[in-house]
Amino acid sequence: MSVVGVCEDEPALRSVLTRALRAMGHDPVVVATAAEALRAFAKQRPTVMMLDIGLPDADGRDLCLALRAAGVDAPVLFLTARDGLHDKIAGFEAGGDDYLTKPFELDELRVRLDALLRRTPAPVAADPDGAVLDPARHALVVGETEVPLTPTEFRLLGRLMAEPSTVVRRHALVAAAWPHGAIVSDNTLDSYVRRIRKKLEPLDLAAIGTVRGVGYRWR
Ligand code: CA
Repeated sequence: MSVVGVCEDEPALRSVLTRALRAMGHDPVVVATAAEALRAFAKQRPTVMMLDIGLPDADGRDLCLALRAAGVDAPVLFLTARDGLHDKIAGFEAGGDDYLTKPFELDELRVRLDALLRRTPAPVAADPDGAVLDPARHALVVGETEVPLTPTEFRLLGRLMAEPSTVVRRHALVAAAWPHGAIVSDNTLDSYVRRIRKKLEPLDLAAIGTVRGVGYRWR
């Protein structure tokens, strides 16, 4: 039996999914908001997660980045009513693994879930200082301190924190933080990183390393 985390704000779809997942032999953990998902999934550690993109308190893709940054690394299946190419690309860049456009057949859901369940991601350690990203407020929270971030800064930091101790290449950072197809100069990326570093200074978090000519690294 696999724990399947579901974050979906439509009550009718929530109950259909709960019943369907139980019938498939899974153990669903079902929540309605991004804030609940961060709490519940960090504790229950689902094997796979299904995240609605249009949530009441956050964009599901920002929730995905925040979960990844918190070390919750189970594969993600995004649920969305929109089916534009732009949304799909942005979903994958946020760390999603697959996409399901509403309305969908339960048989299709079963096949896609089974494919994701066959993957076993490498575990990511939680941040040593307990820094977590809050997708609803676009903020980095460390203990009692909240550092507000712009949406772009949030996505940049989320992409870095999802792979601690790993150099994230410049193009991957641009793809995660800016709209698909945006032209972003090296100077722009560097100045965003400088701004984030400045915001982290009061926390004594010198956590973003530079790898010249390649990219940046979280810790
Ligand atoms: Ca929704």
